[in-house]
Amino acid sequence: AARLRSGAGGEAEAASGDGAMLRHLTRKLRASGPVTVAEYMREALTNPGQGYYTRRGGVGESGDFITSPEISQVFGELIGIWYISEWMAMGKPSTFQLVELGPGRGTLTEDILRVFKQLASVLSKCDVSVHLVEVSPKLSEIQAVMLTGGEVQPNPEDESAYMKGISKTGIPIFWYRDIQDVPSGYSFYLAHEFFDALPIHKFQQRTEKGWREVLVDIDPQVPDQLRFVLSPSRTPATQNFIQPEETRDHVEVCPEAGVIVQRLASRIEKDGGAALVADYGHDGTKTDTFRGFRNHKLHDVLSAPGTADLTADVDFSYLRKMAQGKTATLGPIKQREFLKNMGIDLRLQVLLQNSGDTATREQLLHSYDMLMNPEKMGDCFNFFALLPHHRLVHPDKKDKPESKSPLPPVAGFNELLLK
Ligand code: SAH
Repeated sequence: AARLRSGAGGEAEAASGDGAMLRHLTRKLRASGPVTVAEYMREALTNPGQGYYTRRGGVGESGDFITSPEISQVFGELIGIWYISEWMAMGKPSTFQLVELGPGRGTLTEDILRVFKQLASVLSKCDVSVHLVEVSPKLSEIQAVMLTGGEVQPNPEDESAYMKGISKTGIPIFWYRDIQDVPSGYSFYLAHEFFDALPIHKFQQRTEKGWREVLVDIDPQVPDQLRFVLSPSRTPATQNFIQPEETRDHVEVCPEAGVIVQRLASRIEKDGGAALVADYGHDGTKTDTFRGFRNHKLHDVLSAPGTADLTADVDFSYLRKMAQGKTATLGPIKQREFLKNMGIDLRLQVLLQNSGDTATREQLLHSYDMLMNPEKMGDCFNFFALLPHHRLVHPDKKDKPESKSPLPPVAGFNELLLK
């Protein structure tokens, strides 16, 4: 429980901020007409003054939603092992950056860094640095306390980062608002429950009129209430994002996720490394997944914007397409399969054996069940990876297949084999 933040402050702030975002949005809608769902989501989540993540970002048991790293340290430890295993499989380069997108409270990085410290003898000759991409000033503060004890330097002059510090385990950490500010170089990327928070466009098929974009407008019947409307004609997004072969009648597209995946794929192709993406999502089959969470309950997406988390399932088929063949992709694979392949059962056994009291053992079993049970997080969360092509296929395999030793399988997507 000590890992979870107090909810009291967040609730008080939510109450005082309630009206401000709605007032800002209704002013904007009155002045310039309906906005796309993407624009609405961007304002509600990351508006620099009143956005949900900007002001609070309630990750954790006493916040609005709980994520796997907040449930169990084992989750982050196994991800830390994934990076070490890939680093070894790629020939132990002498330096790497760990780049996390949307680190929340910083718990996942903290757990990964603990593994790096435990395996210091393996990593001893490697120069590791941590780079966090975070738009929320509030969350970056929480991350700084979690990871450095709060000893950070704002706006360092010689860096593209807006903040820097040293982790409790002695590793330099830098903060940025955008992936483009992160220096180039061999990097392992991580995006856990990040892509689902990026703004989506929504489209509906109207048989007589073709595709129309869903927009957000003021309800003329009820003052200060928002409602969905359909665009009277095709919008630029309708033209750009609906595939001619689309068979669904309701589609969500997240172009910002596409742009970020393109950047990740280009960086990995050029400088090497890998990206691990974990999120709830589907492979291009689902339709209407836009939803809100407040106090762990579903929340109407259009009510009290700025006080609830807004999210949509990640379309992994779209991410795969946006990698544009610059890297290979693996997955999506279900969380329970990925964690099983990473050895979660063995790790649980060791922790159970080492824990003296019944309460801790019960807690371990409970969190294992949350992560692995198909009815809980086991089936709806997926893992997806971007890897350089040469990690999966020898570049000159076609010419002399017999002369090459086999490439080690990618852990998580296959069983972990640590030598
Ligand atoms: N990875 C964490 C937190 C997930 S919440 C966990 O699993 O617990 C989403 C995170 O993404 C928050 O840290 C939020 O502030 C950040 N975020 C949302 N939109 C962003 C954007 N456009 N750029 C950078 N960070 C963003």
